[in-house]
Amino acid sequence: MSSSGLFPSKSRPPSSKPRNIVEEEEGLLSGLHQGSKSKPESDVPNAWSRGKIVGTAAFFIALLVSGAFFRTLLHGPLARSSHSLWYDGGDLLSNGTHDFRRTVLIVSIDGLRADYLDRGLTPHLLNISKNGLRAKSMRPIFPTLTFPNHWALMTGLYAESHGIVANNFWDPVTQKEFWYNDINSAWDPSWWFGEPMWETAGKAGLITANLMWPGPPKTTSGATSTYFVPWKDKVPLDNKLDQILDWIDLPLEFRPQLIMAYEPSLDQAGHQKGPKSALVNKTLSEVDAFARNLQTSLASRNLTSIVDIIFVSDHGMTDTSDPELVYMDDILGADGLAQIEHEDGWPSMGLRFRESANATHLVGTLKAAAGANPEKFDVYTHETMPQRYHFWRSERIAPVYIVPKIGYVLTTKADGTTGMSKGSHGYDNEETSMQAMFIAHGPFSTDVKALHQTGNKGWHSTSGGAYIMDRFQNVEVYSLVMKLLGIEDYATPTNGTLGFWDKYLSI
Ligand SMILES: [Zn+2]
Repeated sequence: MSSSGLFPSKSRPPSSKPRNIVEEEEGLLSGLHQGSKSKPESDVPNAWSRGKIVGTAAFFIALLVSGAFFRTLLHGPLARSSHSLWYDGGDLLSNGTHDFRRTVLIVSIDGLRADYLDRGLTPHLLNISKNGLRAKSMRPIFPTLTFPNHWALMTGLYAESHGIVANNFWDPVTQKEFWYNDINSAWDPSWWFGEPMWETAGKAGLITANLMWPGPPKTTSGATSTYFVPWKDKVPLDNKLDQILDWIDLPLEFRPQLIMAYEPSLDQAGHQKGPKSALVNKTLSEVDAFARNLQTSLASRNLTSIVDIIFVSDHGMTDTSDPELVYMDDILGADGLAQIEHEDGWPSMGLRFRESANATHLVGTLKAAAGANPEKFDVYTHETMPQRYHFWRSERIAPVYIVPKIGYVLTTKADGTTGMSKGSHGYDNEETSMQAMFIAHGPFSTDVKALHQTGNKGWHSTSGGAYIMDRFQNVEVYSLVMKLLGIEDYATPTNGTLGFWDKYLSI
């Protein structure tokens, strides 16, 4: 986008890349470690390397030894749930040679559209789902973007509650702008509301490990995960597998019970070449091999009845290789365009007009254009935003939002198609192409099958042995992890449905 375009120069991203290919080419949070282009990588703390990870682990082990000692002094043994009938988070289980505590591993494959699983390219993921369970799809929150959805998965909250209302947005209260790829905002805890599952698990006395999950390393309360590997792009999946297994192989007193891991390559492929591309199919196969290796590695350690694996994605992907362009200058005119002070989000546009602007007139113009072109885009204010978006009750949500329909892209004459990618997301969270995936395996799924034998109708089973749940919303995942770890007593309120998992789990 040119500096005279919709991005006023003062609110352009730290990267000079066009906004919608920043993710595809460089990966999320690339700015954290490659920084602005002038910042040498050697200046960046904690960049991924085997040596540094080991060093970090050693440091944390030292911390843990002292931490565990003081916890014991202050509170006795690790805190645990006292009410769960199904599982007590502190129970010791054996894999035959070592003691373990019940463990949850949640892996996010960014941009894995739900129906990618029907391409015949993911036999191992499907096999895991046949031995476990799968949802027809998982509904992301609106907007269907990476950071809002990864934080929804962590906190169980909609964007209006967890505060990350887009990958980039203006906060009128603090007069600051959030950029997902600028460490100064992305790692500033004050942007991130809600309590992530790793914070709750920490309160319950559990050890946690975070491998690049999009979000901050620390919350406003000062909580951190026990182990933290910050984002770095292009890290081979084998390295991520090694790191996860290194954690699993730690001695009991240092071993995490909740592990979160993140992989961006499929989303990058989808942006770069589009969801139907050979590159997406190739990357899908690579991700499937990673899932197989992970499952095989756990099975070889006799941990399949101890470790629950949950594979999720944050959103889908739609083809934008040949979009119909909607020119904002055709609607607002050059003068109207000049009245925009802040523009949030992509591919939607959250608009804040200058104080001197006749906002009523401009909003009226936008609404009239939407009314004349209902197939192209919608224009919402807080008052008219669809309730199902749960997207208005926050100062951070711009007072006017233009939401394009699938197949349409908002731009200006000056910007044209500059920087547009062949695949995109961020659209209506009811769109089929925006749906995310959910696959789980472990003692969790064994429990589900046992419940099914009793005639529970909560989900479907097919002749292939796959146990397929109806679609559900991703804000339910937080409470699932709480249940699996047996730490519901520590859980914080969410936007999930109270008792949602009761239908699927025998507790
Ligand atoms: Zn994403």
